[in-house]
Amino acid sequence: MPNHQRTIEALSAIVGPTACLTEPSDTQGYTTDYRKMYRGLAIAVVLPSTTDEVSQVVTWCHANGVKIVPQGGNTSLMGGSVPDGAGDAIILNLRRMARVLAIDTLNDTMTLQAGVTLSSARTSADQAERLFPLRIGSEGSCQIGGNIATNAGGTAVLRYGNMRDLVLGIEAVLPDGQIYSSLRGLRKDNTGYDLKQLFIGSEGTLGIITAAVLKLMPRPQAATAAFVAVRSPAAAVELLGLAKKMAGPTVTAFELVSSDAMNLVCEYLSNATPPLQGQPAWMVLVEFTSTGSQDLLESSMVQVLELGIENGLINDAAIASSLSDVQAFWRLREEISDAQTRAGGSIKCDVSVPLSSIANFIDEAYKAVKTMAPESRMVIYGHMGDGNVHFNPLRPAQQDAKEYLMAHYESISNTVDGLVHSLNGSISAEHGIGVAKRDDLLKYKSSVELGLMWQVKKALDPQNLLNPGKLLPSLA
Ligand SMILES: Cc1cc2nc3c(=O)[nH]c(=O)nc-3n(C[C@H](O)[C@H](O)[C@H](O)COP(=O)(O)OP(=O)(O)OC[C@H]3O[C@@H](n4cnc5c(N)ncnc54)[C@H](O)[C@@H]3O)c2cc1C
Repeated sequence: MPNHQRTIEALSAIVGPTACLTEPSDTQGYTTDYRKMYRGLAIAVVLPSTTDEVSQVVTWCHANGVKIVPQGGNTSLMGGSVPDGAGDAIILNLRRMARVLAIDTLNDTMTLQAGVTLSSARTSADQAERLFPLRIGSEGSCQIGGNIATNAGGTAVLRYGNMRDLVLGIEAVLPDGQIYSSLRGLRKDNTGYDLKQLFIGSEGTLGIITAAVLKLMPRPQAATAAFVAVRSPAAAVELLGLAKKMAGPTVTAFELVSSDAMNLVCEYLSNATPPLQGQPAWMVLVEFTSTGSQDLLESSMVQVLELGIENGLINDAAIASSLSDVQAFWRLREEISDAQTRAGGSIKCDVSVPLSSIANFIDEAYKAVKTMAPESRMVIYGHMGDGNVHFNPLRPAQQDAKEYLMAHYESISNTVDGLVHSLNGSISAEHGIGVAKRDDLLKYKSSVELGLMWQVKKALDPQNLLNPGKLLPSLA
């Protein structure tokens, strides 16, 4: 084990002294996670600017037994992107590797370095008259490498899939410093194991993603949205079925919002107005987009909603009459996450179940939480269209209620996760595992699955230097 000064000198020699940060005032933003729940220590924050520099840094760390925490935009909600308090790891942040390398409009692909932010990637695609469809609330900060490492989801998965569905190739530096590359932009390639899949969702434990080839989609020319008061979560699922049957692939997003979630946004967001009268218990934000005519899309939305009303699924609806209405609707939805942070944090359960079980899950989990913590606010929202809801009980509004929910933290998390598991669901639909959910895997993954995960980890990273302590629970 080298002393830290030697590590700093060696890594500074590779990336340059200004790209090897050691002063606490410089490193603090990298060692603390987005939710300020995890604060760690790092020998240094290393900011390489090329794949070759990443490879040299990793090779040196491998030879000298130094741990590495790969980091993108540091927007992880699971504590996955910051080191622990031991102070024996470096953070390898990719933010200086932020170049779009190529856009091929015939192949409909974009090749970019891993440090490009999601919003820059979307803008570059837009400038080439294409769509890169991944859409998540943190897009201004999160990076493509982080999106791949977490297999990010978001609000357009219903139509376009998760990050995994959007990646055609990856370049990654392996834990020993070798460079793996599949940056060919092929949609068909059956020449053995699809190795890039190993890195997607691996949360920085198997390699450092340095570049990727992503799929581009036709850019929609028309968009419309509606906020709809539904009778119940079960009615929302029926409405989604109607929408898919009548409007086919134009159905792009279908987001559930509970009244407590909407109230919270209206409380914290200046100028926010609730989209529907009387604050209904359950709403959905439905979005249709297409490359066809705006008029056709809008009349398709009206037809779906009319049938929803006729079938007794819908109590009320507000349809966007302009693009700025669509944006205003989305703003209400996107602000839920930050409103919770401002309200003092919630118990975050990012869960998914088969769509056929989601209404049952919400009903049962709602009742169970209200029995355990009757005064909690039920901030339930998210990507219902793909079976994923953020089920986030929040402390009551009173000033003195800060500790109220924390007293129930374990019992609520365990109950919600147990219910999800019994319905064949996942205890982490899109945010990953990090440290926050690591030990829960012992309960919800089989010994065969956990054993295989460790075998893969040991094959690639036998010294356990890449993001140690994240994702993989210790096995007895
Ligand atoms: C307001 C808000 C809204 C969000 N909404 C969503 C949402 O709708 N859907 C969703 O899926 N997530 C969401 N997230 C979570 C988060 O933004 C995503 O997980 C995102 O993909 C993380 O990207 P990042 O660049 O910030 O990665 P980081 O937070 O820096 O890292 C996340 C993990 O990836 C690893 N990693 C990062 N970069 C690399 C790399 N280049 N190579 C290897 N490993 C790497 C890290 O080690 C860590 O384990 C949200 C977060 C916030 C704060």
